[in-house]
Amino acid sequence: MSQPIIVIGAGIVGISTAIWLRRVGKEVLVLDRAEVGMGTSYGNGGVLAASGMVPVTSPGLAAKGPKLLLDKNFPLYLRWPYLPRLYPWLRKYLSHANDADTRRIAKGLTEITSDTIEQHAALLSGTTAEKWLTHSDYTFAYKDRAAFEADAYTFGLRAEAGFTPEIIEGAAVQEYEPALGKGATLLAVMKNHGHIKDPAGYVQALAEVLKAEGGEVRQAEVKDFELVEGRVKAVITNQGRMECETVVLTTGVWSKPLMKKLGLNIPLETERGYHVVFKNPSQTLRNPFMIAAGKFVATPMVGGLRCAGIVEFGGLKAGPSKAPLEFLYRKVKETFPALKYESTEEWLGHRPAPADSLPLIGQIGRTGIYTGFGHHHIGLTGGPKTGRMLADIIANKRSNRDFTAFDPMRFTKPKS
Ligand SMILES: Cc1cc2nc3c(=O)[nH]c(=O)nc-3n(C[C@H](O)[C@H](O)[C@H](O)COP(=O)(O)OP(=O)(O)OC[C@H]3O[C@@H](n4cnc5c(N)ncnc54)[C@H](O)[C@@H]3O)c2cc1C
Repeated sequence: MSQPIIVIGAGIVGISTAIWLRRVGKEVLVLDRAEVGMGTSYGNGGVLAASGMVPVTSPGLAAKGPKLLLDKNFPLYLRWPYLPRLYPWLRKYLSHANDADTRRIAKGLTEITSDTIEQHAALLSGTTAEKWLTHSDYTFAYKDRAAFEADAYTFGLRAEAGFTPEIIEGAAVQEYEPALGKGATLLAVMKNHGHIKDPAGYVQALAEVLKAEGGEVRQAEVKDFELVEGRVKAVITNQGRMECETVVLTTGVWSKPLMKKLGLNIPLETERGYHVVFKNPSQTLRNPFMIAAGKFVATPMVGGLRCAGIVEFGGLKAGPSKAPLEFLYRKVKETFPALKYESTEEWLGHRPAPADSLPLIGQIGRTGIYTGFGHHHIGLTGGPKTGRMLADIIANKRSNRDFTAFDPMRFTKPKS
């Protein structure tokens, strides 16, 4: 019998990949150093952002960045002692904040995001996890028309990808969503989106689907790889050596040190983000909202109303900072002035952010090691599609798609 394909990392990307690998007839073993779904996939905003293809690095960001950092009404934070370590990545990241690169990146991400609902549905179809997928609108709430028009560039790119919002203004705003305070006077409603009401529960349910379909999930931390004549022969874990011919690296933001073991230096940073869940809320929402004034997502979830957002740079080691959480509480209060709740849960998470905002999907040379990480703000949205792409690549299924935008070798060449 052939050795199972080892998938490292049991987040949304890893579990989706493992399920699709089973469905193309492969034996598969998923390894995670922790419980399933407890990495970044635990605490995201739950939005299936079909129109989420526009990167953060839109034109002009490099010039606006320092001002935004000091703006108390903008959710961008930096832990200053981290700046020297961040700087090389930041320079590369900001170099993409121009029209040509934004369009190129958006085109690549459209491949990953635009059919998210169909991709989640295909993953779930006929399984016990079907109940987790909610089809819904995704609504952008604005202070006024001027604020909406300031986002015209982004909405233009979304429209080019086939997503044009329906506009609601004036008193109809609170009719559409009574929980919104009077501060919101324009809604841009994106149809054909969706959300997941418990992202961690969802990934755990998918892991059960995987097991039911013959896959295996085990707890082990991968420390290194063993290669013979340039091909992977084993992974070295804290549970011992495990032989394999094919490995998939879906370790999100923690992929950087593992890539280093292969001689690849990937410009991958953590974009730290936060959520606050308002438990037993007095109000809930009809669907997820992007609150433009605070750039956070508010999503109705089984555990309460989850408000998630913030971009903070500061590395993986430091614990949560006070100011971003205070910002989130303040903006939630302004947006939903009548909201009451029993208690809150606070969470800090790590978006895996490659400097060019495109995930790394494909094989590392001819090593037999494949990558599926770097999904930034859209990993829940794009995990199932990524998994399907990887399974097709690994099974040598013919495809007329061009995957070069996601080439994991695009930053550096491996050591010879
Ligand atoms: C505040 C916030 C809000 C967000 N909102 C949304 C949203 O609404 N919609 C959306 O689409 N995306 C959203 N995202 C982004 C999304 O959550 C991520 O892109 C996605 O979860 C990444 O999934 P992953 O499977 O790549 O990584 P992870 O979920 O982080 O999984 C990686 C796994 O690898 C394991 N691992 C790491 N190193 C090792 C090792 N050496 N050995 C074994 N296992 C290892 C970890 O334990 C972890 O379980 C949000 C992110 C944040 C922070």
